[in-house]
Amino acid sequence: MKIDVLTLFPVMFEPIMSASMMWKARDRGLLDFRVHDIRDYALDKHRQVDDAPYGGGGGMILKPDVLVRAIESIRPTADTPVVLMSPQGRLLTHRVAQELSRRPHLVLVCGHYEGVDERVRNLAISDEISIGDYVLTGGELAALVVIDAAVRLIPGVLGAEDAQERDSHAQGLLEGPHYTRPAEFRGLGVPDVLTSGHHAEVERWRRQQALKRTWRQRPDLLAQADLSDDDKAYLAQLMDEAGD
Ligand code: SAM
Repeated sequence: MKIDVLTLFPVMFEPIMSASMMWKARDRGLLDFRVHDIRDYALDKHRQVDDAPYGGGGGMILKPDVLVRAIESIRPTADTPVVLMSPQGRLLTHRVAQELSRRPHLVLVCGHYEGVDERVRNLAISDEISIGDYVLTGGELAALVVIDAAVRLIPGVLGAEDAQERDSHAQGLLEGPHYTRPAEFRGLGVPDVLTSGHHAEVERWRRQQALKRTWRQRPDLLAQADLSDDDKAYLAQLMDEAGD
C-alpha cells in the first residue's frame, strides 16, 4: 500500500511512522509512506498557504490554489481515494479501516485553522473521514489514527493474524479479558479454563466473555453483530440473571 499525506506539519508524522507496527510495515515493504509539505506548493514569496474568510468572521482558511496544486502534484488516479480529514466526514470505524486497508493507494489531506476552501472539496476530494464528534486543531492526528487503523489490517503487518480477528470491533463485539503470568497477582487468579489446555472450551469461554463485555459496555453493538443461536441463548441467560 502507498499512502501520501499532505500537511502543513510534516514533522508530526515521522516519530509515529518510525515506531512499532508502522515502522515494521514500512520495513517489510508493505507500506510506502510519504509526507508532503503543503507550503512547498505556495508560489508567492511569503509562501502563503491561508487567507481570511470571505464574509468576515475569525480564523484563516487554507487557500484552494495551493492545496489543489499540492494534491494534483501526487497525480492520484480516478480510483485513488483522496480523503480530507474532517470533523464533518463519515466516522472512522473498523469497517472503514478495513475498506481503506484494501486500497493500493490513499491520499490523506490534513486541514488546519478554520478548514479548507470549499472549492478544494469540489475539485479534488473524493472522501471525508472524521475520527470522532469533536474538533481537533488540525488533521494530522486524525490522519495518523486512520493510517494506524488501516495499516495494521494489511496482511503481514501484525505477527499473529488470527489474534487480530478477535480484536474489539473486528466481528462487531468487544474483546473479552486477557491474562498472562503470574498465575496469581495480588490475590487475583486466572480463570481455570485458560490453563485447562482444552482449546474448544477456551474458545467458548472467550466468545462468552466477549458477549458479556459487549452487553455491559456497548449494548448498542449487539444489534449489528452476527450472533449464533448459542450466542443469543447466552445473552438471554445474562439478561435473566441481571433481572433476578
Ligand atoms: N471549522 C471546522 C468545522 O467546524 O468543521 C473545523 C476545523 S478544525 C479546527 C481544523 C482541521 O482539523 C480540519 O480541517 C480537519 O482537517 C481537522 N479535524 C478536526 N477535527 C477532526 C476530526 N474530528 N476528524 C478528522 N479531522 C479533524
